[in-house]
Amino acid sequence: MKLTNLLEKEALSLSFEVFPPKTDMNFDSVRHATEEIAALRPAFMSVTYGAGGGTSRYTLEIAKNIKERYGVPTLAHLTCVSSTKETVRQKIGEIKTAGIQNVMALRGDIPAELQNADRGTWAYTHAIELVRELKESGADLCIGGACYPEVHPESANQKEDIRYLKEKVDAGCDFLTTQMFFDNNLFYNFLYKIREAGITVPVMPGIMPITNGNQVERAIKLSGSLMPQRFKALVDKFGTTPAAMKQAGIAYATDQIIDLFANGIRNVHVYSMNKPDVAAAILHNLSDILG
Ligand code: FAD
Repeated sequence: MKLTNLLEKEALSLSFEVFPPKTDMNFDSVRHATEEIAALRPAFMSVTYGAGGGTSRYTLEIAKNIKERYGVPTLAHLTCVSSTKETVRQKIGEIKTAGIQNVMALRGDIPAELQNADRGTWAYTHAIELVRELKESGADLCIGGACYPEVHPESANQKEDIRYLKEKVDAGCDFLTTQMFFDNNLFYNFLYKIREAGITVPVMPGIMPITNGNQVERAIKLSGSLMPQRFKALVDKFGTTPAAMKQAGIAYATDQIIDLFANGIRNVHVYSMNKPDVAAAILHNLSDILG
């Protein structure tokens, strides 16, 4: 199923993100975790591509497995930044062959080990070029793009970031998913501004349940997200007590999702990080709300 069909429905929905294994040895445990999440029947699942040094060749394998064994629609991520045209075209061919209908078109970040590499054959600078490549491939795909309520760290300011976002959407994005945020007001503010700028596609907020004190610093560093005082207090109090932090992090994320639903947002994407227990707990907390 194309996600555009899901996103136009009135019903409230929750979707989950998983990531491929970082090494070949972890493949079975990651596949098992993704299957446990799929068995919870989320609206769809996204599978990241090479994020954090993961083995990108498994993205499609995991996405295909979830779709075929559990009937859960999948969204396969694809990045372009250190790729050649040939690699990207080959990947698009593989996506078509795998029967995947939804692709998240991302630029990606240059991995540390390639910082000093010869960039002569790299063909892409921004995600918009990948969106165009996907469109030109003739594949019948629903295309997503990333957006940043707290501004992408490389952008000079929000106005410029939104101007480039509009260009990316106009090139062919059918929907957007946001970077994580911990203060919903930042998202509402962003949504208002992008609607004002003429971006009309559905925007899915991305919510990251922080369930481990050690996760906080890395998550904030990666996303540049602000930590509201309420969230800081929670981490200070429970960050060193794993079970308590997990419960508090799930409650905080649940609270954010309820507020988003209450304010008219229908589809929320959860960065569930290959954690079936966290995904299940959030679904349980929202069981009557999701119906
Ligand atoms: P772009 O849209 O290219 O934007 C990057 C920056 O360039 C922004 O500052 C933008 O304003 C600017 N820009 C855009 N177009 C132009 C232009 N024409 N000229 C000048 N400046 C321009 N990373 C992974 O490696 N794998 C994943 O699976 C993954 N999934 C993600 C999912 C989501 C929902 C999000 C929010 C991020 C994800 N990322 C992933 C991280 C992402 O790759 C990084 O944030 C990356 O730095 C930017 O990617 P982008 O697609 O937003 O890039």
